[in-house]
Amino acid sequence: MTTLPVIPSSPDAPDAVGGRRRPAMPPRHLADLDLAGRQSAVAGLGEPAFRAKQISAHYFGRLVRDAEAMTDLPARSRARLTDDLLPTLLTPVREQACDDGATRKTLWKLHDGALVESVLMGYPDRVTACVSSQAGCGMACPFCATGQAGLTRNLSVAEIVDQVVSLAGDAASGKVTGAPPRLSRVVFMGMGEPLANYPRLVAAVRRLTNPSPEGLGLSQRHITVSTVGLVPAMRRLTAEDLAVTLALSLHAPDDDLRDELVPVNQRWKVAEVLAAAFDHAARTGRRVSIEYALIRDVNDQPWRADLLGRLLRGKLAHVNLIPLNPTPGSKWDASPKPVEREFVRRLRAAGVATTVRDTRGREIDGACGQLAATEVAAVQGVPAADAEVGQ
Ligand code: SAH
Repeated sequence: MTTLPVIPSSPDAPDAVGGRRRPAMPPRHLADLDLAGRQSAVAGLGEPAFRAKQISAHYFGRLVRDAEAMTDLPARSRARLTDDLLPTLLTPVREQACDDGATRKTLWKLHDGALVESVLMGYPDRVTACVSSQAGCGMACPFCATGQAGLTRNLSVAEIVDQVVSLAGDAASGKVTGAPPRLSRVVFMGMGEPLANYPRLVAAVRRLTNPSPEGLGLSQRHITVSTVGLVPAMRRLTAEDLAVTLALSLHAPDDDLRDELVPVNQRWKVAEVLAAAFDHAARTGRRVSIEYALIRDVNDQPWRADLLGRLLRGKLAHVNLIPLNPTPGSKWDASPKPVEREFVRRLRAAGVATTVRDTRGREIDGACGQLAATEVAAVQGVPAADAEVGQ
């Protein structure tokens, strides 16, 4: 029997589920605050308010966090300001590269020992960061590695933003082979369910898209939020003044199968979740991306392609098929290529734009749904300094 994951009744998820101890959130960081909040923090240190803009420009504009490099700040203030506003939130435990250096995965240890991963993907015309919104995930999708271990905790706004700023620094220093030295896109397709950490996710998106020095200055439409389909939170997101792209992890066009593959479907059905996704597309003008991991003999039948085609025909949507990455111990496998091709053909014949996602990062378990489980098991308890960094 499939059990329903714990889903908060409000999209503003509590930090702890089921009355357990509230996890300790990390120290406050400038990326947790808007500019006014940073100005009062700086004033609280006895510094003039304009220092907030200076230190923000270092962090977001120059991707610099080292006090010594902030030469426009008086030497005596630098350490005080950086200690207070730029505490270390993420410590790299392991970095791995593949695809000839075009894909890099970083495993981070958080202040309380929780582990999360981010992936940086370079293409000839762009660099994309795939980041985590939670440590673990409570959504329990049976084909996803992250879903197997459950939720550890929500990430703070700054823990989300700092993944992106760190990866932007990697891109700027030319670490991504064959790609421009500038991070331009962010996808919330790492660990966690972004809409289950709603207020922090939205604040993080604002920080990433506000112009420097308030934020990182990315374009809203270059941010993709991927969700299992938490309908009230999807509707709340639609009502925000944010033109982000929505990705919906559908994986099945019928409730019988989706109840099993994406257990949250037991709460919000296919019709409801698609209606919320189409409303988001209509409001933002951004085509919704329907994510569909093709699983051999599970969801890859021609009739399911036809049903999906009927549901999406004429809508502002496209399908992104993901060859399943089998997780360790899973009974499931990717669909054979001819089956995949027939699925694509039927969707296209129905007039639905369809692509097959590239399988970036597979060798380093950095591809979709592969984050965490193996590395977490391998490094838990290993002090960061002893672990392998910078491979
Ligand atoms: N919780 C969010 C975002 C994280 S997962 C969501 O579910 O959308 C990012 C994407 O990877 C989702 O579409 C997810 O369903 C997919 N995914 C998870 N495990 C996978 C696997 N083993 N193979 C292929 N795709 C997978």
